Amino acid sequence: MRTKSERDDALKRNDGSPNIPINSLRNGWIATNPAAAEAASRVVSSGHYIHGPEHAAFEQELAGFVGTEHAIGVASGTDALVLALCAVGVTRGSEVITAPNAGGYTSNACDQIGASVAYADIDPASHLITAEALAKAIGPDTDAVVVTHLYGNVVDVSAIRRHCDSLGIPVVEDCAQALGAFLGDARVGSIGAAAAVSFYPTKNLGAAGDAGAVLTNDPAVAERVKSLRQYGWDEKFAVSQPGGRNSRLDEIQAAILRVGLPLLDDFNERRRVICDRYRQVCEGTELRLVTGANVPTVGHHAVVETTTNQRRDGLRHWLTTRGIGTDIHYPILDFDQPGLPRPSRSTATPNSTSAVGRILTIPCYPGLTNNDLEWICTSLDEFAKAQS
Ligand SMILES: *Cc1c(COP(=O)(O)O)cnc(C)c1O
Repeated sequence: MRTKSERDDALKRNDGSPNIPINSLRNGWIATNPAAAEAASRVVSSGHYIHGPEHAAFEQELAGFVGTEHAIGVASGTDALVLALCAVGVTRGSEVITAPNAGGYTSNACDQIGASVAYADIDPASHLITAEALAKAIGPDTDAVVVTHLYGNVVDVSAIRRHCDSLGIPVVEDCAQALGAFLGDARVGSIGAAAAVSFYPTKNLGAAGDAGAVLTNDPAVAERVKSLRQYGWDEKFAVSQPGGRNSRLDEIQAAILRVGLPLLDDFNERRRVICDRYRQVCEGTELRLVTGANVPTVGHHAVVETTTNQRRDGLRHWLTTRGIGTDIHYPILDFDQPGLPRPSRSTATPNSTSAVGRILTIPCYPGLTNNDLEWICTSLDEFAKAQS
């Protein structure tokens, strides 16, 4: 959200500078690709709107793309987190460990289940949860860990699994911002006990509405999610699992996602190119690009870190006057959210607390033009030079 004075500045600006939104779905792949509209229209005229052939095909194609045995379509990324956690054994009263800087989605999912959360700190470079911080945060009552591949940056799930496997603690991957990314030879989402994916429209692979999926190699986890997404049924009208809900991925969304999935690697490549350019511009200045810092990334958000909170606000103001949209992912740590439950235990999270006031998200999406990209780079460069 722009402040009033930023809006006034933008209105006063009449210097021919562009208007570059933080994200633009108007020129995104769904709005501009006739195949997406054709897919939706095919479903509309088919008369099959829930769990039809497009949905079945998409589940198979998604599993094939990520390299998991199973992909189970659900209604959203948050539902995917809830159902994945339930399926690996999290229930009311369980304790889950996650990072506090990832937008509250895991904390919300745990709150829906009645599980409590304790927080592990992040790496100061990549802003990702680390195996070391997790080892410190895990307690005797910890039942599961959620690792979020934040900003498209890839968590070292293998290192985390080495630690958690020995304790018998399942690791769930939140791939909402990183679908398609690789850790070594494996796509993220194929490394943990289960993974959650979101197809919210602005994600790396977005639908034309809400949609999500759970990924897993474990047939028992897959069966549980399939049951829980439809009222806990094992067969029609026979409720065998407690905690079921209605969380289905619509046939229309599945048909659209089938068009997008083969394009995802190219989208991610464009995001990486944009981030590489930002990283180049930040080099040798006080600005630092968090996205891709010492880790593989698919550039979901391009996040710049400044030295102080004041400098962050100054950069945001400067970019606004240059017609460049910005956002903050995320401005409030989970344990400071009044609407989320208190953590089950207090843990040390100095890196998270230090970073939260110094981050700024700048435009990064496949439809960003090279002209706009260069305008943003020039603006970053001018900001950095004006201060040195
Ligand atoms: C978007 C997002 C979610 C939630 O996905 P929805 O489909 O909006 O419910 C979960 N985790 C992360 C990291 C996200 O970015």
